[in-house]
Amino acid sequence: MSEHPVTPSGPGSAPFREATIDVAAIAWNTRVFAELTGVPVIAVVKADGYGHGAVLAARGALAGGASHLGVADLEEAVELREAGIDAPIIAWLHAPGETFARARERHIEVGLSSPEQLEAAANGGAASAPLRVHLKIDTGLSRNGVPESNWERVCSRAAALERAGGIEVVGVFSHLSNTSLDDDRAAIRRFTRAVEVATAAGLRPRIRHIAASQAALELPESRFDAVRIGLGLYGFSPLPDRDGAALGLTAAMTLRGSIASVKRVGPGTGVSYDYLFRTERDTTLALVPLGYADGVPRQATGNASVLINGYPHLVAGRIAMDQFVVDVGETPVSVGDEVVLFGEPRTGAPSAEDWADAADTIQRHVLTGIGRRIPRVAAPE
Ligand SMILES: *Cc1c(COP(=O)(O)O)cnc(C)c1O
Repeated sequence: MSEHPVTPSGPGSAPFREATIDVAAIAWNTRVFAELTGVPVIAVVKADGYGHGAVLAARGALAGGASHLGVADLEEAVELREAGIDAPIIAWLHAPGETFARARERHIEVGLSSPEQLEAAANGGAASAPLRVHLKIDTGLSRNGVPESNWERVCSRAAALERAGGIEVVGVFSHLSNTSLDDDRAAIRRFTRAVEVATAAGLRPRIRHIAASQAALELPESRFDAVRIGLGLYGFSPLPDRDGAALGLTAAMTLRGSIASVKRVGPGTGVSYDYLFRTERDTTLALVPLGYADGVPRQATGNASVLINGYPHLVAGRIAMDQFVVDVGETPVSVGDEVVLFGEPRTGAPSAEDWADAADTIQRHVLTGIGRRIPRVAAPE
């Protein structure tokens, strides 16, 4: 595959605030990962699809051939089911005392990390079918997952519960730290040993999965039977030396708004809180109605730019809760003109990665921070 087409943005009747989601780009990116890795893609749509809208993200990923959807918790899985999505879903982060009743009712697969979760999952009462579970192994991230000291005990108990019919162990999985290739290789060796322990206990897990976006690209030995792709689905590269375009990916979200007011000011005019910016000459200021409550990182104050009528312009002064100001100089602008905060770089827009760099954080943080005032709207296909 070469490049997914993109539609350039321009003047017109811009929405007040909107995150436009290119669902076809998510499908495209899913196929890129499937072709590159040669294994099924578990599309990670947790945290409202990394801010893109979980249902839109799920629809895109499934159109692109994803085998499963992955979410953190059962609440997120139920939201997908209520939207009518019946593809396999796995959820792996559970509330204390979770009974897994919702998982049984809704046919949601669960990742389990402790003996308590295993007992609760198997204890489904008069369930018709066994609950499908994936045993989560701690291979060095020290978050969820069964620690090595407990592998044998948990695997033999899981095998007994499987024979009794309460659960079916369909997978074994883990998650990597991305600290270094060597650290990840050591974790993969631990994972292989854990799978051997599971097999020796009588389990036959069909889906072994450990790689997220970064390892799926960098470490072929991490791919096993499936890869769990989050960031990459949305068009971003997890690698420091290659951007999304270099991997053939397309950014799926365009965050935009319309200019809410325009004014001409003289030199020495202070702009926004604390007057961090003062104009140097006669200029035009344009007000953009998105702020840090909408996920525009306040820390990016002074370092970020936006696209207005095809040209990048620096954000002037403090990014506030609901708005920020752009010094557009002599560029003619009108109320209602479109402002693109970020989008696919091939359209000339800044990327979410530029905003992440400006705010000294990562793309996932910018994307998942997009607030509730911003409607997520599917781009016309
Ligand atoms: C979030 C998450 C992923 C996806 O990670 P990316 O690096 O964004 O691809 C995969 N697996 C687990 C367990 C996760 O929590």
